Amino acid sequence: MMKKQTTGIHHISAIVGHPQENVDFYAGVLGLRLVKKTINFDDPGTYHFYFGTEGGKPGSIITFFPWPNAYRGKIGDGQVGITQYAVPVGALQFWEERLTKFDVEYVVTERFGETYFQFDDPHGLHLEIVEREEGELNPWEFGGVTKDVAIKGFGGAVLYSSRPEETAATLVDIMGLELVGTEGDYTRFQATADIGNIIDLKMTTSGLGTMGVGTVHHIAWRAKDVEDHLEWHQHVQSKGMYVTDVKDRNYFNAIYFRETGRILFEIATDPPGFAVDEPYELMGSGLMLPPQYEDLRNRLENSLIPIEV
Ligand code: ZN
Repeated sequence: MMKKQTTGIHHISAIVGHPQENVDFYAGVLGLRLVKKTINFDDPGTYHFYFGTEGGKPGSIITFFPWPNAYRGKIGDGQVGITQYAVPVGALQFWEERLTKFDVEYVVTERFGETYFQFDDPHGLHLEIVEREEGELNPWEFGGVTKDVAIKGFGGAVLYSSRPEETAATLVDIMGLELVGTEGDYTRFQATADIGNIIDLKMTTSGLGTMGVGTVHHIAWRAKDVEDHLEWHQHVQSKGMYVTDVKDRNYFNAIYFRETGRILFEIATDPPGFAVDEPYELMGSGLMLPPQYEDLRNRLENSLIPIEV
């Protein structure tokens, strides 16, 4: 089989606390669009939110499982340590003022010659904002975030692995990323898309993370279409990884495998996307249920915590 190469990050999924606090931060502070309000297909009593750019394009989607009463997790090895957003060049000053206005504490740091604002979301997830030349402007304007400064998608992610050398090999040999270089504790890899394309892998370990509120559950990589996705399934299996069957997630198909450094990887199809079950202009406004849960609608609408964007 030909060498497989993902174009970059498709989405990142995390566990958080109260759903309204989650919406207030990602829509209200970061200015992202809630592109889908649905339920966790594996646990239909709980929400699953998707936030992204206006169209919810692959490489911009962060998804949340809000579990208001769950234990706090610990960020550590075997996880995405930092989720990183790209904004247009010249927009950092806007974000500095905005984070200050919303009382979000941040620190400024540098890696590979780039300046990062690092801060946490209300439930402890580590985030970064970085200026990048690449990536289309995001036309979604919300709450004072205009398109000249809006988040364009993920810049990338920082991975914490329990076996960094093996994770590095997986990124190159299985996912098809290119090695860029090493600086201090970090090795940088690059994929081909213009957003969600930079992975910084921490080459030292600091103890396993534990899953819970405030941690990333998995990172998903892009597959072009259903056919490409089946090739990915075969490809990952041929590298000796245990990979799940294809799961229909309504907005994409998914397969999952845990890489050797314990980070849960998913591979997801770009199509069909979020306009598949509600009109583009209304995406995110209704509670969308997959057909198998439609008969639970009344019960779910009464039991889920109401949220407002
Ligand atoms: Zn996923």
